[in-house]
Amino acid sequence: MSNLKHDLARYVKEHCATYAGNGRCHLDRPCVYFTDGDDFERCIYAENCVLPGSDTLWSRYLNIHNQAVNSKACVRCAVIFDPTNNRQKYCKNCAKERRKERQRNYMREVRKRKNNYET
Ligand SMILES: [Zn+2]
Repeated sequence: MSNLKHDLARYVKEHCATYAGNGRCHLDRPCVYFTDGDDFERCIYAENCVLPGSDTLWSRYLNIHNQAVNSKACVRCAVIFDPTNNRQKYCKNCAKERRKERQRNYMREVRKRKNNYET
């Protein structure tokens, strides 16, 4: 069996309206089918608008993802992911970004408080 991800990438490159070239997506993230390795995250846009255009590709795709029962869409970038617990709202990438954001905000708060003491 040929590599599904490879075939998806080739199909998306030709048919996806949001594919921006060089593995990028116009939705301001890397295209999920152009990442390294055999795993890939799910893309709502591709699932709704692109992949069903190819019967063979789509049925192969469904075969894999019907097994992923608990899939959720990331509230930040709409990538579909399989949460490791029920409260998880973000995909792996966004969870990482969120953590960084929170850290930055925290540091800003600390600095602000410090300034208030000094004035
Ligand atoms: Zn995300």
